[in-house]
Amino acid sequence: MGIATTAIHAGQSPDPTTGALITPIFATSTYAQTTGQQGEPGEVRFDYARTINPTRLALEANIAALEGARFGRAFASGMAGIDCVVRTLSAGDHVICGSNVYGGTYRLFERVVSRQGLSFSHVDTSDVAAVREALRPTTKLIHLETPTNPMMSLTDIAAVAEVSRAAGTRLVVDNTFMSPVLQRPMELGADVVVHSTTKFLNGHSDSIGGVVVTNDEAFDKELGFIQNSAGAVMSPFEAWLVLRGTKTLVARMRQHEESGRQVAEHIAGHRKVKRTYYPGLASHPQRALAERQMKGFGSMVSFEVGDSVDQARRFLKALRLCAVAESLGGVETLISHPATMTHGSIPAERRLALGITPGLVRISVGLEDVEDVIADLELGFAAL
Ligand SMILES: *Cc1c(COP(=O)(O)O)cnc(C)c1O
Repeated sequence: MGIATTAIHAGQSPDPTTGALITPIFATSTYAQTTGQQGEPGEVRFDYARTINPTRLALEANIAALEGARFGRAFASGMAGIDCVVRTLSAGDHVICGSNVYGGTYRLFERVVSRQGLSFSHVDTSDVAAVREALRPTTKLIHLETPTNPMMSLTDIAAVAEVSRAAGTRLVVDNTFMSPVLQRPMELGADVVVHSTTKFLNGHSDSIGGVVVTNDEAFDKELGFIQNSAGAVMSPFEAWLVLRGTKTLVARMRQHEESGRQVAEHIAGHRKVKRTYYPGLASHPQRALAERQMKGFGSMVSFEVGDSVDQARRFLKALRLCAVAESLGGVETLISHPATMTHGSIPAERRLALGITPGLVRISVGLEDVEDVIADLELGFAAL
């Protein structure tokens, strides 16, 4: 089955009681255990809705299928999913984490989980040798994002997967920026893929959620055990919204990708722009890796509109259509200023070392007519 067919059908079949085509929102906390569905050999046992919910099950199967994985678990947020993965570890274990991962991931690892005796090394995973050198006998996980936000630095997933396999560690790839339509980490050797469904998978900026998928049945069972114990499950309503979102995922990603490219090319050729970061540009230093590993370059573009926060503000203030907002992956174009928004809590020197200069802005190109998005950006450039 092709990925568009999978997106629309995987995990879902008409409701057996009514034939309802769309998986209902099973708003129930518990299940009567006398309905005949219970306890039969091979039957799924529905007992309590923190543990199991049919709407959530449908979404978990849907996203697992999209990522080419056997098992999936849906969580209350992307962070809850990532948290569940690191909770499979024990005090004394070591994690190699990308040096420029999502700020919430950095905060969870450094300021919350590290208190429980886990240690983290932050490594530029685009340098495979650096990943190998950071390995310790206690290393249990490698967690990375590619492309990174907002610098669009890529990591060779297959190469890191090889290092991880040789060392007996687990490779976790956060695929939120690309979605399974544009990048399939499991096929490249990742052991676990995590998503914030809040972004492209739901795609409409109206829900928060996360998923974790894997092919390792024992690991999935462990995730399920922790998920049920800690309780950060995705609600049936959110699962229904994300199922609605993934039906159009392929069509949306194709248009995001097409518009993203056009916007990136327009920006890269603009006399008011100093630098543009987009994996699809010929000037991107890892363009060859992008072509090899990704099925498209996405719709996230970062660019420098000057040297100062003031210039970035002037640019953003002049926009009428693009919303200045955190988050990404929605149908509407969102634009942000990393130095004061998503990466504002990072010390200035560290931010600069990552390349996040005061004049850098990041756009998540939405599904409006691309001419309108470009015309809006021109309002910003005119104000510089
Ligand atoms: C948004 C995001 C997260 C966190 O997801 P939430 O749903 O906000 O908890 C994790 N990783 C990446 C790459 C993200 O963009």
